[in-house]
Amino acid sequence: MQSSYELVMGLETHVRVKSETKMFCSCKNALELSDEANVHVCDFCMGFPGALPVLSDAVASLGVRAGLAMKCTINQKSVFDRKSYFYPDLPAGFQITQLYHPIATHWEVSAFVGTKLQTFRIARMHLETDAGKLIHAGKTLVDYNRASSPLMEIVTEPDFRSRDEVLAYLEELQKLLRFVDASDADMEKWQLRCDVNISIRKTGETHFNNRVELKNLNSFSAIGRAIDTEFHRQIAIVQAGWVVEQETRGWDDDRGMSAPQRSKEDAMDYRYFPEPDLTPLILSDEYIAARAVTDRPIERRVRYLDEYGLLSDDARILSRDRETSDYFERLVALTGDPKKSCSYITTVLFSLMEASQTHRSMAENPVSAEALARVIDLVNRDEISSTNSKVVVERLFTGWWEPDAIIDELGLRQNNDTEMLADIAMKIIANHPEQVADYKNGNEKVFGFLVGQCMKASKWQGNPKAFNEILLSKLS
Ligand code: ADP
Ligand code: ZN
Ligand code: MG
Repeated sequence: MQSSYELVMGLETHVRVKSETKMFCSCKNALELSDEANVHVCDFCMGFPGALPVLSDAVASLGVRAGLAMKCTINQKSVFDRKSYFYPDLPAGFQITQLYHPIATHWEVSAFVGTKLQTFRIARMHLETDAGKLIHAGKTLVDYNRASSPLMEIVTEPDFRSRDEVLAYLEELQKLLRFVDASDADMEKWQLRCDVNISIRKTGETHFNNRVELKNLNSFSAIGRAIDTEFHRQIAIVQAGWVVEQETRGWDDDRGMSAPQRSKEDAMDYRYFPEPDLTPLILSDEYIAARAVTDRPIERRVRYLDEYGLLSDDARILSRDRETSDYFERLVALTGDPKKSCSYITTVLFSLMEASQTHRSMAENPVSAEALARVIDLVNRDEISSTNSKVVVERLFTGWWEPDAIIDELGLRQNNDTEMLADIAMKIIANHPEQVADYKNGNEKVFGFLVGQCMKASKWQGNPKAFNEILLSKLS
């Protein structure tokens, strides 16, 4: 009777900040995983005594941007704390984090779950250092490239009731962080890691039960599988008359199951205290105002739906990243025609990109918005047919840059000379007596054939609308 139980979930997401350098030293912040081991290290991030931390401006700035993107309150004063524990990937023996006074607190991220717009509350966001990486290869090796590189930890309230809500939030969070350039948030590169806290309760209950913290989730699909599996595991425990234990479990995606990782986190004494080598981070009103985020991908998506009347899938695709969305908006500004702008991007341009080896993303798109706007304008003014407009865009995609030059070069300009088109139509009628008779006997399908013959005879330059009208009047 699993339908009588509901999931209650809260997420703790760690995101790698996209700064040039690490959080407190000038070592490179290695955002790719491919660098040689232990090349981005110095006295500070190796934990040698005497080396002092200096907070990176970029980390603070991107932290503020990310916090504002999530509509959080940025705290004018935040404080760094030392969290002490021993582990070989942590050379200093402590992590620098923000426990009591985080940089951002409250408020929310909105996301579409299917077609429904929902809001999930953010409890807090703080800045903290990452640890190094252990490599187990017979003996254990350590790579400190990542040690002391900057992370944001984003903690939500327990607002999630289904796997789809979790995935919708994470996808939106990823888009949002990319949009403000605070992180590439790429899970495969370990730039985004998410722990899911899960409990269950009987539908209708309002209290919270013991939760399990699931770790080691390496992809969105693994998160989905882990949630489903944990839901059923907890239901089985409760139905057997037991109580779910509050614990941390590690997800093993290959085996499709989780196993206990360590006992309650609270059991460990991290001996938190304010980091003595750093002053509090103080941010002025002006500093925060200068990093305001006015426009989020979700807001663009809603605008494309409500103001432009686009289909839900189109609105989603066109707001998926900043390059695509900016391009679309520039095109709309030039054409005043959101629907045609949408269709030229999502059908014509995207299929060219898919087929291309070298220009696969909007950032590499060689067709300027101005050129595409000119093409749409020419179609709207009947100067080229919509079929031929695709040929023009294909040429633009291969590096030509002047739509009108392409049209003249290839002879694609549409012929709107009604006298000339009428001559062609009369010839076609004269040459196809059988089909004409057929049409007059009520077979309307033949009409399309006759228009096609006219188009062919005009070398595809005749205006098909004009041919339609001429044929209609001659045949009635
Ligand atoms: P702690 O201080 O013990 O780490 P937090 O209050 O920071 O606990 O919560 C950690 C995460 O667990 C948050 O994302 C929160 O929303 C989530 N959470 C808290 N209680 C529950 C619960 N009963 N079920 C599911 N998630 C929960
Ligand atoms: Zn360093
Ligand atoms: Mg916590």
